[in-house]
Amino acid sequence: MAQELIIIGGGLAGSEAAWQASRRGLKIRLYEMRPNKLTSAHKTKFLAELVCSNSFRSNSIYNAVGLLKEEMRMADSLIMRAADRAMLPAGSALAVQRDSFSMMITETIEGDPNIEVIREEVKELPGDGIMGIIIIATGPLTSEAMAGEIARLTGSEYLYFYDAISPIIDAESIDMSNVFRASRYGKGGDDYLNLPMTEEQYDAFYNAMIKAEKVPIRAFEEERVFEGCMPIEIMASRGKNTLRFGPMKPVGLIDPGTKRQPYAVVQLRAENAFFTAYNIVGFQTRLKRAEQKRVFGMIPGLERAEFMRFGSLHRNTYINSPLYLEDTLQFKAYPNILLSGQITGVEGYVESASMGLIAGINAYRLMNEKPLIIPPSTTAHGALIRHITLSDPKNFQPSNINFGLMPPLVERIKDKMERCKRLSERAIMDWEQYLTSIT
Ligand SMILES: Cc1cc2nc3c(=O)[nH]c(=O)nc-3n(C[C@H](O)[C@H](O)[C@H](O)COP(=O)(O)OP(=O)(O)OC[C@H]3O[C@@H](n4cnc5c(N)ncnc54)[C@H](O)[C@@H]3O)c2cc1C
Repeated sequence: MAQELIIIGGGLAGSEAAWQASRRGLKIRLYEMRPNKLTSAHKTKFLAELVCSNSFRSNSIYNAVGLLKEEMRMADSLIMRAADRAMLPAGSALAVQRDSFSMMITETIEGDPNIEVIREEVKELPGDGIMGIIIIATGPLTSEAMAGEIARLTGSEYLYFYDAISPIIDAESIDMSNVFRASRYGKGGDDYLNLPMTEEQYDAFYNAMIKAEKVPIRAFEEERVFEGCMPIEIMASRGKNTLRFGPMKPVGLIDPGTKRQPYAVVQLRAENAFFTAYNIVGFQTRLKRAEQKRVFGMIPGLERAEFMRFGSLHRNTYINSPLYLEDTLQFKAYPNILLSGQITGVEGYVESASMGLIAGINAYRLMNEKPLIIPPSTTAHGALIRHITLSDPKNFQPSNINFGLMPPLVERIKDKMERCKRLSERAIMDWEQYLTSIT
């Protein structure tokens, strides 16, 4: 009997992986624990349920997530097929009628003669020495038993449960006239961009911060957060100077302009090796997006900041992929087990599904002893893989797709629209080549 591929989790990634593997002729057993056991956010028995918003964000291919979707369409993605069919009017965004979307995927997968859907929670992975190929795609709300199993594969200290992320800014949009490069106490060269603030600037920023509107807590979410990833607005609410002893502390930094230690400092750390995107260090937040723009725009140098990713906070289960995953999505220590979806450290519906697409293709190639080919980092898929496998494990944070994850163009283009257009055109060309190489 032909070997079967086991997929655990019938969410966005698991459904896409099953579809990609089935199209190539594999037999698949797809385990989904719903409706017998629901997560804290899922409400239905449908595969690929959308747990929150019904938006797949921008549909323009000159936007990074639009580009990612286009690459998926070119690879005949089931998630994109269903999304395009269930589309609702939403300007330049791709929003979907959520039930039609998930029902279409459920019907396709359940009706596929290559796929057997088993409605069961998988509590244990097969022991060492297992020959079969497994894709784990159990998502950010992975059941406790499976989280324990993944912890066993990785070492539990690298499974995170509350995920607070800070915004990422397009380097081109930072006003460098107010920036000095330095590391605290001169340790680490000129790694950080430092944005100094006077007492008046800090006071205005602080007052805006404590009054700013937050995204409301959903019923199933807990207020509990780890001290290590405390949202900046919670820290600010503890007292006027808390931030000056926390992420905005000026000690060890001398502004070469004034030759003095500033009253407060905001530090930006490069998000990639190309210095095209910067993370605002310690600014993890659940402020509403418009408030992030308004309040963080009060930081001198960030007045015109373009946000490539906004800060957010929610429960998440993901592994420190740079330590444990190959760029093929195989576990380094267990090459027959692939990881896929949000649990790899990508963030978002489309990103999770795109990792399912790659895992499904790779599982097929692995099963048929074909070489595994990785899309180049100039493509949206390749850029995500690069992020989750080559980031510094000490600072690893989940990421949406954004152009900052891709290598910059050879020539410098100031105009943002033109730059995005050129990056997208390059990506589509390279993705076409990737698709040719795997046929
Ligand atoms: C509360 C919340 C809100 C979010 N909102 C958004 C949003 O608005 N927009 C956005 O782009 N992204 C959002 N995300 C992030 C992410 O895009 C989604 O969670 C996305 O569904 C992840 O896709 P996935 O395939 O990795 O996981 P999922 O789609 O969650 O699929 C995982 C599946 O595995 C099943 N499962 C879990 N454990 C087991 C087990 N042991 N055995 C069998 N089955 C199991 C689950 O029931 C689930 O069906 C949100 C995440 C969370 C947690």
